[in-house]
Amino acid sequence: MIEKNMIEPDVKCIEEIRKLGGDSLKNCYQCATCSTVCNLAPAANPFPRKEMIWAQWGLKDKLLADPDVWLCHQCNDCSTHCPRGAKPGDVLAAIRKYVFEKIAFPGFMGKLVGSPSAFPLLFLIPVVLLLAVLAATGHLNIPEGDVIYSHFLPIGTLQYFFMTGTFYAFIIFVISMSLFWKALNRKSANLIHQENKQSFIPALFAASSISLESARVMASGFSQKTCFPSDIASSTMGL
Ligand code: SF4
Ligand code: SF4
Repeated sequence: MIEKNMIEPDVKCIEEIRKLGGDSLKNCYQCATCSTVCNLAPAANPFPRKEMIWAQWGLKDKLLADPDVWLCHQCNDCSTHCPRGAKPGDVLAAIRKYVFEKIAFPGFMGKLVGSPSAFPLLFLIPVVLLLAVLAATGHLNIPEGDVIYSHFLPIGTLQYFFMTGTFYAFIIFVISMSLFWKALNRKSANLIHQENKQSFIPALFAASSISLESARVMASGFSQKTCFPSDIASSTMGL
């Protein structure tokens, strides 16, 4: 029996990834050179070729559920060797920004964190909030007498402010991580990872080990290729 596989392209997703730095994605013609040269692409499930076609077709659910984009350390070896100038390293970076924007809670924080031009604003927000708290508690003035730090910024107010901020950051981190984990575990989105599914703690250890390996490869500059053309030819694109 022929198995049907319905594909639901999302044009908005394609445009958003292009705007986030992946505007070369349409150049890809699926030769797989990128997956062959990538030091970190595993033989069983190489990247970034499959991500290129998912991005070209706007397969949003697959991109949101793809753990492989987080393995990439953007060395751009793949972009250097791409015969079409499709810049797969940049496209993967754009996909990561896209996932941030879609999954982060609250949504506007995902947008701000993914945009270097918004960094001054990110520093400004707590400064303005702190000034507002000082004004509200009657401490936005220059006290008379000796210069004593706690007269400018009362210790209790500072403790209250930073403890509230830390608690808020922890809550949005937990919510964002749980949304991310949920997206990664969506059954219909990424069948090629279903057989390797793990619960959160073992997956965290496995991911940490891969990150350390990635850092080691970067630090040494040593090319430890784990994926070969024959593997690429026999792999699927996970569609
Ligand atoms: S090397 Fe370039 S053209 Fe070939 S699959 Fe990768 S991104 Fe596409
Ligand atoms: S940028 Fe480097 S790590 Fe990322 S996919 Fe390309 S070759 Fe692999």
